[in-house]
Amino acid sequence: MEKIIILDLKFKFGEAEDVIHPVVVKSDDSMILVDCGYTGSLQKLEVEMHQKGLDCEALTHVFITHQDHDHMGALAELKGKYPHILVVASEQEAPYISGELKSLRLAQAEQMQAYLPEEQKAFGKAFCDIIRAVKPVPVDIKVKDADVVAGCTIVESTGHTPGHISVYVKSARTLITGDAVALENGKPVIANPQFTLDLKGAEASLNKILNYDADQVICYHGGVLT
Ligand SMILES: [Zn+2]
Repeated sequence: MEKIIILDLKFKFGEAEDVIHPVVVKSDDSMILVDCGYTGSLQKLEVEMHQKGLDCEALTHVFITHQDHDHMGALAELKGKYPHILVVASEQEAPYISGELKSLRLAQAEQMQAYLPEEQKAFGKAFCDIIRAVKPVPVDIKVKDADVVAGCTIVESTGHTPGHISVYVKSARTLITGDAVALENGKPVIANPQFTLDLKGAEASLNKILNYDADQVICYHGGVLT
């Protein structure tokens, strides 16, 4: 049976602290990491893995739920140091992760820049630069809804981005949401609705996930839904 290990990666942005939760799914013959953290954070990931008795060297796959920098920022560094790890993402999201198409989040942020009030423009520009700094990585395995890779079932959960996926681990009755569901004060919500590329789709995905037959729901932003 698969073992689920939730990682806690802490980041400081000025006064604010942000915690994100990549998840490791470990079985006898595979070890999957679901999402890998911000650009430049590989070392933090390695340290956290070690603290939980894990080693990046033993990873077989990394699933990327979607193209955003907090989910794939560290991917180029990870794949550079551990080239044997297979990158898994949806068919629809793959061209944004591999850099064949321009990041939708960057396009959105650039568009919004023109409408930002003067005092937010510097922040908007800094955000664009953060997305531009994400290095693209080719996707090794392209998946679609209901595909099974190394014991994990792909659950299409469009909305936050068009090709967003969540991951269901049947044997552990666990659903790993990515950004299809976030927790705010313990309540399940749509992550950053103001930046959601398709709000209707995101609402449908949120309901789909919350109605899933799972004992444990793990949100990248917020941790475990109880
Ligand atoms: Zn996110």
